[in-house]
Amino acid sequence: MAEHLASIFGTEKDRVNCPFYFKIGACRHGDRCSRLHNRPTISPTLLLSNMYQRPDMITPGVDAQGQPISAETLQSHFEDFFEDIFEELSKFGEIETLNVCDNLADHMIGNVYVQFREEDQAAAALGALQGRFYSGRPIIADFSPVTDFREATCRQFEEESCNRGGYCNFMHVKMIGRELRRKLFGKSEPPNVVYARSTLVIVSIRKDWASGGVHRIVPLRYLSSDQYNEKQI
Ligand SMILES: [Zn+2]
Ligand SMILES: [Zn+2]
Repeated sequence: MAEHLASIFGTEKDRVNCPFYFKIGACRHGDRCSRLHNRPTISPTLLLSNMYQRPDMITPGVDAQGQPISAETLQSHFEDFFEDIFEELSKFGEIETLNVCDNLADHMIGNVYVQFREEDQAAAALGALQGRFYSGRPIIADFSPVTDFREATCRQFEEESCNRGGYCNFMHVKMIGRELRRKLFGKSEPPNVVYARSTLVIVSIRKDWASGGVHRIVPLRYLSSDQYNEKQI
């Protein structure tokens, strides 16, 4: 019996534990999910929920003033963010994985997953991030159950063939350019990396980190979940 339960843990057959939370660390039902979200008490991975705010979050390809934004500008904005958080999080230990989601559904938009080499490094980062703000918004950080990102990532997206778009339930990982990857990850570059096609323009690092105090909180855009796709996992 115990063996059977172990074999179905975190799969569709498991009626108790939520497979989405288990594999991807995020589930659209959140705390209202009918299945259990077993929040780890320690993990090498942290989830910083909804942290990256893309400049075209209201309408893809258009900024808040209604002006079109080029793909290069969007990529540059993202890489600026990526480098900034990489450098901040590196203070707590060696980063194995830093993934930022390109998904659009509420529970995944702008999610940042950082996996450290050691659990205590993640714990130190979590302690330091709690109560802090980034770009005027509070940082929401938790331990995440995700340690195998191959299981959590949408392979079709990497092959540019995911027909679920931004509402896919698997991670659509935003890619950084080859130059920035080399700069940040150096020779320990992981194999099978897919590179962004646009040319990288590194701009200066923004001073978005804040340790507390009163800030204007920018609400996230809440999207309807109508197009949300259930997917067997
Ligand atoms: Zn769930
Ligand atoms: Zn997908």
